[in-house]
Amino acid sequence: MKVYFLGTGTSQGIPVIGSTHSVCRSTDPRDKRLRVSVWIHWEDYSFVIDCGPDFRQQMLTSGCTKIDGILFTHEHADHTAGLDDIRPFYFKQGNIPVYLHQRVLQSLEKRFDYIFETENRYPGAPAVTPHEVVEGIPFAVGDKTAVPISAMHGDLQVFGYRIADFAYLTDIKTISEAEVEKLQNLEVLVINALREEPHNTHFNLQEALDFIALVRPKKAYLTHISHLLGFHQEVQQRLPQNVFLAYDNLEITL
Ligand SMILES: [Zn+2]
Repeated sequence: MKVYFLGTGTSQGIPVIGSTHSVCRSTDPRDKRLRVSVWIHWEDYSFVIDCGPDFRQQMLTSGCTKIDGILFTHEHADHTAGLDDIRPFYFKQGNIPVYLHQRVLQSLEKRFDYIFETENRYPGAPAVTPHEVVEGIPFAVGDKTAVPISAMHGDLQVFGYRIADFAYLTDIKTISEAEVEKLQNLEVLVINALREEPHNTHFNLQEALDFIALVRPKKAYLTHISHLLGFHQEVQQRLPQNVFLAYDNLEITL
């Protein structure tokens, strides 16, 4: 199984528009971060987690040519705003399966009403087939199983996903012990780490490192990163041996 980091930035991406911050001005490609998403593929199967405003660019850069489904973590714009750009996949493949919490579905139905319209559809509009994700109920992704991991993004419930020995959690601030139990014996954990300073709805770096110490995956990758965390190269040097800052277009093999 391969995991391709399509984007590793927080909601505004890096560089932030108009910013003169030194990280935003960095020439290191690893300091340029699109909105957070991963592409997971194995054999002929291909799934994407989240579909933010940089989706089109991410599909072009990664070379992804087919999507068997999109798994959503939550409805915030940095995770969903690119949904219209599934059109080329829809034209080739037909309805694109989407896996999402009932609340996320309702939000997308409001914001992308034309995608969900069943009568008098605009001919160029894409269409999706929704599959509701329910806490505690695993579902099939190709010939593997996705286990939803429930966590809290401030007051908002979000889903991470475990597929085989890989787990992806973003935009979390708190998580119950029962959900942490589902993360035993991971090869790779991807977890959000915003910046050094505490934040009320995202893990900061220390909280992410504490969480990694609790879950004890073989390797952990940090994502959903703000420019305020610092330069990729400097931050990486301060991390424990099995913890890595993810960066855009990094691909790992499990
Ligand atoms: Zn986010």
